[in-house]
Amino acid sequence: MFGKILIANRGEIACRVIRTARKLGVRTVAVYSDADARALHVEMADEAVHIGPSPVGDSYLRGDRIIAAALATGAEAIHPGYGFLSENPDFVDQVTAAGLIFIGPSAASIRAMGLKDAAKRLMEKAGVPVVPGYHGEAQEIVLLATKAREIGYPVLIKARAGGGGKGMRRVDHPDDFSEALSGARREAKAAFGDDRVLVEKYVDKPRHIEVQVFGDNFGNVVHLFERDCSAQRRHQKVIEEAPAPGMTPALRKAMTEAALKAAKAISYSGAGTIEFIVDGSEALKADRFWFMEMNTRLQVEHPVTEMVTGVDLVEWQLRVAAGEKLPKAQNEIALAGHAFEARIYAEDAAKGFLPATGTLYHLKFPDTPPEDAAMRIETGVRSGDAISPFYDPMIAKLVVHARDRTTALGALRKALARTEVAGSTVNTAFLAALAADADFAAGDIDTGLIGRHQDALVAVPAPSDEAIAAAALAATDASTAGPAADPWCSLAGYAHFHTLARRTRLRYGEENILARVSARPDGRFQVALEAPHDALNAHDLRSMPRSARWPGHVTVFEGAVGYTFTVPDPLAKADEAAAASDSLRAPMPGLVKLVRAAAGDAVIKGQPLLILEAMKMEHTIAAPHDGVIAEIAAEGAQVSDGTVLVRFEDARG
Ligand code: ADP
Ligand code: ADP
Ligand code: MG
Repeated sequence: MFGKILIANRGEIACRVIRTARKLGVRTVAVYSDADARALHVEMADEAVHIGPSPVGDSYLRGDRIIAAALATGAEAIHPGYGFLSENPDFVDQVTAAGLIFIGPSAASIRAMGLKDAAKRLMEKAGVPVVPGYHGEAQEIVLLATKAREIGYPVLIKARAGGGGKGMRRVDHPDDFSEALSGARREAKAAFGDDRVLVEKYVDKPRHIEVQVFGDNFGNVVHLFERDCSAQRRHQKVIEEAPAPGMTPALRKAMTEAALKAAKAISYSGAGTIEFIVDGSEALKADRFWFMEMNTRLQVEHPVTEMVTGVDLVEWQLRVAAGEKLPKAQNEIALAGHAFEARIYAEDAAKGFLPATGTLYHLKFPDTPPEDAAMRIETGVRSGDAISPFYDPMIAKLVVHARDRTTALGALRKALARTEVAGSTVNTAFLAALAADADFAAGDIDTGLIGRHQDALVAVPAPSDEAIAAAALAATDASTAGPAADPWCSLAGYAHFHTLARRTRLRYGEENILARVSARPDGRFQVALEAPHDALNAHDLRSMPRSARWPGHVTVFEGAVGYTFTVPDPLAKADEAAAASDSLRAPMPGLVKLVRAAAGDAVIKGQPLLILEAMKMEHTIAAPHDGVIAEIAAEGAQVSDGTVLVRFEDARG
């Protein structure tokens, strides 16, 4: 085994790798950018090396600096995590040339699977079923459109260098082909520097089922069963599980055999995943699955496999890279129970899942697993850390395991309801709604489920009067006491019938709330809310919803929903003035990619006005109401969070 390894990554996956390294007695070196100087992975590692400024191109993608850091600290091997340099064969070559070991497959394996078109051609030869489609070199629009017609609509345009669901467009009708192609190419160019595409048949009622494989340097390859990642939005995984609901012995046998064939075709060593698309329009059938791509790395959702097999996949990665044989033979690997993973992201589900940023002033996960379940929280942040615009906005992965799917899903719902995040918009309520969705609970899933149920899944219920009262109470507490202090102890001295009352003003969205909070001598308190809310009677402090106070705000938690109230500073009028002006602001830093309206245009509600590229994804900014545009951002403009993108002419003036 290695004495010391360097982890060329950040966030939860860096922390995850460090944990297993420590278990094996392997010392660890972290690398970090400016933004991550005080990050959790830096704190956890035995040593840490600064590798550059915050943008990934200047730090986590700087292979040269990472290799230099490994050499300077005496690390023998580099673990790439996922993302960043994990699937970059040139980096693997450089690591090897420096006399270090890359904890992962060979550069040749990565190259063979790196481009989806070439990988599909290779798999076809190896006898693995591939999605019908065009995966040739020629890229003329006319040719691609002809191929699309031959394949038959609906088709899927995919960036051949794609990953993370980027550079992908479903097209239902030939008329939309050329615009979809331009969009996919633009996104692919920006994300991967390669705008070549393939065109595939869009599989009906598609289910994403993938097989975990593992190889060593002695020619042994095993599989660790499947994961179902059909719960997706915009082709990105949301909740993953193992095993796949409704899986039949015949399909499992066919899929795992195909996966082993794929891995053996490239003499695969290390952890890898063969992703398949499965036709779920009827019951799962052994001849209705096709190879989509291979991810030649550890996968984000690997913990669900670890939960159902009891295998530590990172431990296997280290052992195999250190020259050991696979710790288990195929017949020693068994499935037990059911596991789910929910990805908790800083994003605004109600606003088209726009990535969010912010400081996680309050971050609390369940202290203990829900009843009858095991739980793992994989995170790279702690209370007070920031979600910056530089990196993936994932906050944590909540992983549960129980004896069967129903119990595990119940545990997931409970764990989400006991998770508290304040300071940034998060998707916990959306995840909880999905975990409670009737079709999802029945295992009737496909990649379109979230889209079909989107309105219900992203709907945020209005806060209850109890939640508003709790917010008012927490706001009154304002700057005087920490969360542990009970402000009412000091007020309990007022043993009069007419008690001390404090007036508090709050804002929830557009709504202004006026509350009168009074303490009572018996240690209870009363919150009276102005109409339209009812006056509330005395509430027992202990029964009030949980809340967190953070600068300028209060967040109240009811189940997995966090209601965030603004506590206006009476001295600051600026934010109100800004709210009153009729304009659309950039929800996050980004690049104005395409402008589709001009000053003077009359536009209607919902009409796309411009495309903002942020976090490597394109987001369409649409008109919030009918109106006439007074000003609109210029194409190519780099905008920061809050920059006015579109100003409307004042309808009132
Ligand atoms: P996996 O295939 O391992 O489940 P995903 O498909 O979600 O992971 O993502 C594929 C890769 O893209 C991962 O390596 C992940 O790090 C990266 N990725 C995912 N989302 C983003 C994002 N918003 N920005 C940058 N990279 C991302
Ligand atoms: P990425 O590298 O971005 O992960 P994939 O090829 O793995 O790209 O596809 C991402 C997702 O897009 C899949 O998980 C699936 O939901 C959807 N998808 C891909 N190919 C097809 C297809 N042919 N038909 C239907 N859905 C597909
Ligand atoms: Mg994929």
